[in-house]
Amino acid sequence: MEHFLRNLTEDIVVSQLDEMINRLDCCKCDKCRLDIASYALNRLPAKYIATTQGELMSKISIIDNDFRMRVATEITKGAAIVKKNPRHAAVPGSPLPYPIPDLLKTE
Ligand SMILES: [Zn+2]
Repeated sequence: MEHFLRNLTEDIVVSQLDEMINRLDCCKCDKCRLDIASYALNRLPAKYIATTQGELMSKISIIDNDFRMRVATEITKGAAIVKKNPRHAAVPGSPLPYPIPDLLKTE
């Protein structure tokens, strides 16, 4: 059975963003969704685990509620930032409407 490294935080953020996206007052295009996910992931600790594809879902369920609350908080904050300055309309090669480092900042 092949094992691979997986960041469970990423799985939690992506699945929670899917659940929350319709309640978030922001653009729902791919780019904005991924920007929101990036924002949240850069502020949450990584949770790496060696796993197999089949085991993945059961591993996700070990994440506790406190951590899920933190994830929801960061997603909400990320949505507010992306809403203020969406990058989806950026013309390739032109200056970005807001700087990437905003998404990368950890505090
Ligand atoms: Zn968008």
